[in-house]
Amino acid sequence: MKTAAEKKIILQVDHLKQYFPVKKDSIFKPKAYVKAVDDISFALYEGETLSIVGESGCGKSTTGRAILRLDEPTDGKVHYMGQDILGLNKKEMRKLRGDLQVIFQDPFASLNPRQTVKQILNEAMAIQEVVEKPKRKDRMLELLGYVGLSAESLDRYPHEFSGGQRQRIGIARALAVDPKLIICDEAVSALDVSIQAQILNLLKNLQKQFKLTFLFISHDLSVVRHISDRVMVMYLGKVVEIAEKKELFDSPLHPYTQALLSSIPVPDPTLKRDRVILKGDVPSPIDPPGGCRFHTRCPFAVEKCKQEEPSLRELVKNHFVSCHIAEDLPV
Ligand code: SF4
Repeated sequence: MKTAAEKKIILQVDHLKQYFPVKKDSIFKPKAYVKAVDDISFALYEGETLSIVGESGCGKSTTGRAILRLDEPTDGKVHYMGQDILGLNKKEMRKLRGDLQVIFQDPFASLNPRQTVKQILNEAMAIQEVVEKPKRKDRMLELLGYVGLSAESLDRYPHEFSGGQRQRIGIARALAVDPKLIICDEAVSALDVSIQAQILNLLKNLQKQFKLTFLFISHDLSVVRHISDRVMVMYLGKVVEIAEKKELFDSPLHPYTQALLSSIPVPDPTLKRDRVILKGDVPSPIDPPGGCRFHTRCPFAVEKCKQEEPSLRELVKNHFVSCHIAEDLPV
């Protein structure tokens, strides 16, 4: 296994912010923003799967969309293979979209219901000009083979497939343009557990075969445990912890990560786990708490937590945590 220093960074995100303006109900009120992603930085290494986890509204999907510029980020830098993505014009960005693909949660919504699989795959190849017209049919059959669909699928429409098969079409479409990095946004969340496992295994095999890098966004820790190399935990628009998967699942350092992990069902009924129940709801991202954003729900909060925002620091090698007193907390 390569050390962190030997790994090549494919994507570098620095101080990324994504604020959305809130409609004012009075002209006398100051302008307010939903701070969906608020100053986050991380690197993604070539060939790895980095998962982003957290509750709904933590900013994980917004991060993926901002990287792809599906929503234009408010501030920050995103470098893909050293290239400043946010500085690209429309034409340059369209060209880059071949390298950066996305697989969404709901394949039915992301596939055009009026197009056959053939038209869907053809369109992707035509836009990115990756395969010459006469060779496209062969390429389509090859793609269907990779994702486990038959050649007859080409002339069928999305509604004629099951949810798992539709997700396979979505994966084939992403592969059609020879991507290097795929953002999987809750890609298996809408599927039954047995189908989830099949799609996750398919993604893992394709990753090996095509040397793909995945940014895997999910709220489901069991799924994340299956597919990740590293895991990044977000809370209310901030990164609170990043570590190798085993390290994070074995020794979570942040109280929020500890609470999240304690909620994973244990398959063995003889094993008991102390479940950490967090008090209260997630605060509003329009007016997040000062200091540590988790202090309103943290069972270990001290006075400093209300005043000062903790920085993300490396407490154990390659294990980063954003908590003032993480070294003193029980693991
Ligand atoms: Fe809890 Fe304080 Fe650590 Fe935040 S900084 S996680 S409030 S102990």
